Amino acid sequence: MLVLDGKIASAAVKASLLQQTQALQAAGKRTPHLAAILVGNNGASETYVASKVKNCDETGFGSSLIRFNDDITEADLLAKIQELNDDKTVDGILVQLPLPKHIDDEKIIEAIHPDKDVDGFHPTNIGRMVQGYDTFIPATPYGVLLMLEYFKIETKGKHVVVIGRSNIVGRPMSILLSGDRPQGNAHVTLCHRFTPKEETIKMAQQADILVVAVGIPNFVTADMIKPGAVIIDVGITRVEDATAKKGFRIKGDVHYEEAITKASAITPVPGGVGLMTIAGLLMNTMKAYEGKFYHN
Ligand code: NAD
Repeated sequence: MLVLDGKIASAAVKASLLQQTQALQAAGKRTPHLAAILVGNNGASETYVASKVKNCDETGFGSSLIRFNDDITEADLLAKIQELNDDKTVDGILVQLPLPKHIDDEKIIEAIHPDKDVDGFHPTNIGRMVQGYDTFIPATPYGVLLMLEYFKIETKGKHVVVIGRSNIVGRPMSILLSGDRPQGNAHVTLCHRFTPKEETIKMAQQADILVVAVGIPNFVTADMIKPGAVIIDVGITRVEDATAKKGFRIKGDVHYEEAITKASAITPVPGGVGLMTIAGLLMNTMKAYEGKFYHN
């Protein structure tokens, strides 16, 4: 059984990016710069953003963390995004979700210029991705693709079952894996909350590769896994645990101890897809810096 270790795969991505930033520095050029906006003080969001900033430092990227109280108006947030869009020293902009209820996520995502949309959520980039054009890919599915590439997991002709259809994970994952691309060309089945449970179980049991992004700890149990399957567990849920130092533990969507008795490979939680999401974000930021997809 192979553990698809996100530490190892993301370290390889980061080492290659560091080489590129060192070459830029040696040539006297500026390096990629990521601007992260954090609204409010949601604990999980704080952790994610801090980790993104730390990873920028480790990779030789510049970063700015822009914080606002959760009573910021939508207009003020939009104005900040416009300022960052116009700032030639900022390559990538991310707004950490979720946002407070009085702010419309859709408006915020659409306000980020597509050529700085390193989270890959802008409709223009989603449209390009669906059409198979080279573009920013949402960071988590991109991280999964990088993971599959690093561990040389064949997807062509395989039956991939994706459970969960969110705009940031499940749906783009299903589109990418079914596309005509490296780490693609799979036969993909997408299950979601309205798929009858027995059908989700039946599909999962036939999956050569099972990608789970539902946000329900231990949703996938051993009986749902085909012997030898590759399991990609995207789920991250904080489960209260008085014995843990922080008062909670991070749980994936797959019952890990059960899954390892059936699977040929599995991503751990934590230490799997979460780390690859950051690798995906850094790759997108480098591509934004290089002006890979858009020309100003
Ligand atoms: P979401 O709540 O937006 O979507 C959950 C999806 O699961 C929905 O599409 C829903 O239809 C589906 N679902 C719910 N119950 C189901 C059921 N009984 N059967 C089949 N499908 C069902 O969540 P999301 O943003 O896609 O995140 C999913 C999980 O992944 C969460 O735990 C989240 O924290 C985690 N996540 C991890 C990363 C990472 O970097 N590892 C990134 C993003 C999200």
